[in-house]
Amino acid sequence: MRVKVLTIFPEMFPGFLGYSLTGKALNEGIWSIESINIRDYAFDKHGSVDDTPCGGGAGMIMRPDVLGAALKANYHGGKLIYMSPRGRQLTQDYVKELSTAEDLTIICGRFEGIDQRILDAYNVEEVSIGDYILTGGEQAAQIMLDAVVRLLPGVLGNVDSLSEESFEDNLLEHPQYTRPINWEGLEVPAVLLSGHHGNIAKWRKEQSLEITKARRPDLMKKYLDSQGD
Ligand code: SAH
Repeated sequence: MRVKVLTIFPEMFPGFLGYSLTGKALNEGIWSIESINIRDYAFDKHGSVDDTPCGGGAGMIMRPDVLGAALKANYHGGKLIYMSPRGRQLTQDYVKELSTAEDLTIICGRFEGIDQRILDAYNVEEVSIGDYILTGGEQAAQIMLDAVVRLLPGVLGNVDSLSEESFEDNLLEHPQYTRPINWEGLEVPAVLLSGHHGNIAKWRKEQSLEITKARRPDLMKKYLDSQGD
């Protein structure tokens, strides 16, 4: 997967994506990232990329002429995304969908966001990482990329861990334990030490159902609906 990020803070990348599994995958060439400094496409000597909102109001808006020039020079097809609180909310299903893209270009907003005409002219896909407001799209882009890169073939050592995670089948993950068996008087549930795979699977499923029902009735409903098929 080839990723391009349009940002006014190119030095923020790869950021935490340069560590651990995503960093290793970056070194191995499973994915690549190029950050493009939007300011390089500014028309004046101050490198100005923003201006006040038409119609008035607080803050600044990123100019379509500068961002447009950056896109023209760097976007040559593939998925084009703008990180935005108004976007389609990122879920594990959406992450899976994005992980099939070969070319991903991401626009990171700053200030109060970008001019609507860029979104319209380029038919940009807007992605939100949740119902809260960040100071910039860079943080959101890195979170999205972390989840996406994790799913690229060869990134995770153990592919089984993918199918057993939270949100697979719309259920949250069961509790997990490791050694020592007794920690400060607290024991690992006996069933997990029994070696009986059937009972272990049954216990985990029951725990998953219980936790999902208690914490996420919305997911539980999806799960129950999918069982009806
Ligand atoms: N005025 C905008 C918020 C601007 S926040 C509004 O009310 O919708 C500045 C930038 O941070 C945005 O342009 C966007 O790129 C990024 N951003 C903020 N919150 C985000 C979120 N929840 N998901 C994705 N990107 C976000």
